[in-house]
Amino acid sequence: MEKRRIAILGSTGSIGRQALDVIRQHRDLFEVELLTANNSSELLIRQAIEFDANSVVICNEKKYEEVSEALKPHYIKVFAGMQSVCDLAAGDNVDIVLTSMVGFSGLSSTVAAAKAGKTIALANKETLVAAGKIVMDLAARHGARIIPVDSEHSAIFQCLMGSAGAEIKKIHLTASGGPFRTWERGRIANATSAEALRHPNWSMGSKITIDSATMMNKGLEIIEARWLFGTPGERIHVVVHPESIIHSMVEYEDGSVIAQMGHPDMREAIQFAFSYPFRLPLDNRKLDFAGIGSMTFHDADTDKFPAVSLAYEALEKGGNMACIMNAANEAAVAAFLRDRIGFYDITDIVRSCMDGMDFVADPDLDAIFETDRETYAKAAEMAQKIAASKSF
Ligand code: MG
Repeated sequence: MEKRRIAILGSTGSIGRQALDVIRQHRDLFEVELLTANNSSELLIRQAIEFDANSVVICNEKKYEEVSEALKPHYIKVFAGMQSVCDLAAGDNVDIVLTSMVGFSGLSSTVAAAKAGKTIALANKETLVAAGKIVMDLAARHGARIIPVDSEHSAIFQCLMGSAGAEIKKIHLTASGGPFRTWERGRIANATSAEALRHPNWSMGSKITIDSATMMNKGLEIIEARWLFGTPGERIHVVVHPESIIHSMVEYEDGSVIAQMGHPDMREAIQFAFSYPFRLPLDNRKLDFAGIGSMTFHDADTDKFPAVSLAYEALEKGGNMACIMNAANEAAVAAFLRDRIGFYDITDIVRSCMDGMDFVADPDLDAIFETDRETYAKAAEMAQKIAASKSF
């Protein structure tokens, strides 16, 4: 395998740090070309020096001086602002772009990487939720390969290898069920952000951990799978599997079901996206089947977790509906993380926005950005009202 030059968009977040750990184990095969961060200047500086990055971008322009001063003695180029992220990710000396920023903010740089025909290691699922059709069309037109990093989608991607041309009968998307799987609805209603942040299996950033607690994460993943694999919603089935050993499954026409397994560790999916189609050793925990003993499965409880139904509905409506759902969810989760609203207010706000915002049947990229902006503002306003009325 030839050495691959990697750009990590969002290197100081959970996925970004785990990606650097993968690179640390294979310095002979992977090289850090570009690192970007929103705000975490100190960690960005440390990472850039350790991995001898060619360039870095700090999105917050107020921190440019600090980063620039620190990296000058190391001859590392420093830029600021979102436009620089897009320009550098599309640069000639980048082979793979890992999109590990949080939420809708990842869209413009993912579009830039797709237009430049890069291999995209996609960790930013919101990009495909908000603009799946546009991003997949751009990638196809410019020859950009998208390799999923989301563990379920990496699993599906791996289950599809070697079955070219075979019809997928069903995708079984596994879900841990999150921290409230066994709680009663009444208790969930009063859950705090601290309780929602205690995920039983996966170590992740705060936004996605709240999404796991509401199961909106699974909702977003249904839509992500639809675009990545071209599988209609009615053939994507969610199955709750609390042990998180099977990361997802593909069922073929002949009834054969292929599963991909491993301990919950995002580095496996990140490394595979970097090394594809090759496999490399990884210093991680290996499965011990006798030790595991048994695995359990059940259907998702959509009364307790309405987000899954909302996602199917958004997929069915098409147009900008999934973008509306995603933007409302981002604003509501931000409010919940500050304990401004209650747990079920998150999905209530999403529901109201899906009913109330303007529907656009065939949105272009500008319409998607506008939908996101307007919906986010509307949802934030609704959260504000709830916070005021409940005196949270
Ligand atoms: Mg996932």
